[in-house]
Amino acid sequence: MPFMEVNASPVDLVNLLQGTNSQSDFSTGNTYPAVAVPWGMNFWTPQTRNNGDGWQYVYTDLKIQGFKQTHQPSPWINDYGCFSIMPQVGVPESDQNKRAVSYRRENEKALPYLYEVKLDNDIRAAMSATNSGAAFKFDFPKNKEGILLVDCFDGASEIFIDSDNQTISGYSSFFAKNNGVCFPKNFRTYFVICFNQPISEYGCLVGRKFVKGKKYCSGRNALAYVSFGKAEHLELKVASSFISYQQAKINLERELGKKNFRTLQKENRDVWNKALSRVSVKGGTLENQRTFYSALYRTMLFPRKTTEWNEHGKAMHYSFFNGKVCEGPMYTDNGFWDTFRAVHPFFTIMHPSLSADLMEGLLNIYKEGGWLPEWFSGSYKDCMIGQNSVSVITDALLKGIDSFDQKLMFEAMCKGAEHQGPLATGRVGIEFYDSLGYIPCDVGIKASVSRTLEYAYDDFCMAKYAEKIGAPTKVVDHYRKRALSYQNLIDKDLCFVRPKQMDGEWKANFAPDDWGRDFTEGSSWHWTWCVFHDVKGLQKMIGGERPFVKMLDSVFTSKPTVGLGGRKKMIHEMKEMIAGNMGQYAHGNQPIQHMAYLYNYAGKPYKTQEKVRLIMNRLYHSGWEDGCGLCGDEDNGQTSAWYVFSALGFYPVCPGMGEYIIGSPLFEEVSLKLENGKSFKVKAIHQSPRNKYIQSANLDGKPFNRSFLTHEEIMNGGVLTFIMSDTPNKKWAMDSLPTSLSD
Ligand code: CA
Repeated sequence: MPFMEVNASPVDLVNLLQGTNSQSDFSTGNTYPAVAVPWGMNFWTPQTRNNGDGWQYVYTDLKIQGFKQTHQPSPWINDYGCFSIMPQVGVPESDQNKRAVSYRRENEKALPYLYEVKLDNDIRAAMSATNSGAAFKFDFPKNKEGILLVDCFDGASEIFIDSDNQTISGYSSFFAKNNGVCFPKNFRTYFVICFNQPISEYGCLVGRKFVKGKKYCSGRNALAYVSFGKAEHLELKVASSFISYQQAKINLERELGKKNFRTLQKENRDVWNKALSRVSVKGGTLENQRTFYSALYRTMLFPRKTTEWNEHGKAMHYSFFNGKVCEGPMYTDNGFWDTFRAVHPFFTIMHPSLSADLMEGLLNIYKEGGWLPEWFSGSYKDCMIGQNSVSVITDALLKGIDSFDQKLMFEAMCKGAEHQGPLATGRVGIEFYDSLGYIPCDVGIKASVSRTLEYAYDDFCMAKYAEKIGAPTKVVDHYRKRALSYQNLIDKDLCFVRPKQMDGEWKANFAPDDWGRDFTEGSSWHWTWCVFHDVKGLQKMIGGERPFVKMLDSVFTSKPTVGLGGRKKMIHEMKEMIAGNMGQYAHGNQPIQHMAYLYNYAGKPYKTQEKVRLIMNRLYHSGWEDGCGLCGDEDNGQTSAWYVFSALGFYPVCPGMGEYIIGSPLFEEVSLKLENGKSFKVKAIHQSPRNKYIQSANLDGKPFNRSFLTHEEIMNGGVLTFIMSDTPNKKWAMDSLPTSLSD
């Protein structure tokens, strides 16, 4: 990545290629370079591998087979409603592998608003995006026939070439092999492409051959080409809709209109730069700043907003749940299991209007599909565990994001809290959890321990929500009681969370490093800490502050052993933990990401400060040189949001509690420009790689002697100043500890 502007703006510090040097058995992020607008309906990516391969752009491939409209939230979920555009010269080539053209890294530029590459066949391609569309510019080599291929990939599709009007329209859908499960049958991505050059020749693929002059094709994998004679410069604009062709044209007109590539690229750059600049940082190294803004960019992609505005300007959406066109906003592509932790709490600070709109989107999902989602990509997905939508909703409500129908939302939350529901929506094993207080390990339910812990936390959120909306006491008490269910699985003697049988006996042969079926993508080393809402209660159970701190320490000092839990080989998260070289600490996956902050609950904030800095420095980099940068899956902004918060100096350990736990600020000064017009600054005086310990702090000049901040303190604006040093001040922050349910 040789590209670097002097005095770069935040947008130019983003490395789009961070985390793309990944493969299925080892992740440095499992990302792709998404050219988009923040939370855009469609993203665009250069594609180096065949459609259907979740690893659609891999850093080391260095060959491009197309520029793809994508909705992929993760390689493990895969894509839907995608199609691609590929410029060619000479004779059109349809095969994805054969049409791939190599390029050199120094001829590639990847920024949030612009992907530009000079291919080795001398075609130069550049793309920029709008919400539902994109603009492209192609330069073809002199005296060669410039061609453009449109590929709808597998699944129902059609293409129609209107050469008189210099347009192509078509649709793509989903392919069951990708992310096709549970989509309504009528799901389509309708697109319209228009060119600024006359079409000289065209054809559609029939079987394996192009038929020249054929202007329409349909069926599985519609694919067509158009050529432009000896035109050297071609610009195209494209927009799409999940609703109809008519709506795709409205989107094209509204977002791209008569503007040329240059203008659209500049507009997109401004959108990103303005959005990223709302968090401004001073100090740190260039590498710190690149890592920070790359992370900030990734917190602003998911969930995508799929609301479209009709000819009267009314917000509409295609329902992934009932296949109809409905009113109001819609969002998709989010795994709440990942993003409830830090992404959505970040929105409540920086983008409360987005959070509010998302609440409306969730209500629409409930109205149209009957359940709140846990993992949704298009429609509901059967992925991960827990009912963490209630965390996202409760955190928002308690922070004053309250414009939605709170009663209807509570109805939706309760339905999921008391029923299993289809796919990942409700609570698997609820009958055991409700009657026994835990899910037994011997009743055929996977992840019995992980589910119990997440349900307990989710019930804490349910109780907070119920209380806030004035629900009857017995409802609040029901959830408050269940919020303590985690206690049923803590083995006080071993100080670990542990699987329990139906008969109340512990499951025999327990090993804390076993990533077995009772745990989701982790072991007891990681899951023991997933009691976000009652850290003090957990602490008491395992013998108080000293044993608690000792256990936290031993996470980092124990050998990184893994029990395969009945698997034949290691899953990538295991390998990433070992590569991280921090003992049993597995930051590459979500369950433990809050754990380094827990020392604060035992009055040892300096230990958090030490560990958080170590994690930031060892497990994150910008990937500027190697396309790596993260220590595991990025996951819809979550692993990035950890870095963003940690660099600011605080982290939301327990969404729904309204507190942020203080770590060790990375920059000399960070300023948050809030939507309410106020700004909140964090200053770290004498900050340096050595000076990672907080000596003292003040908020607007008043002594600040606790290791957590409230949401109100941030939203009121002000300046939080830390004095940093190379030695711990063990007396700082002793006024009060962060809140726990058991307090
Ligand atoms: Ca993960």
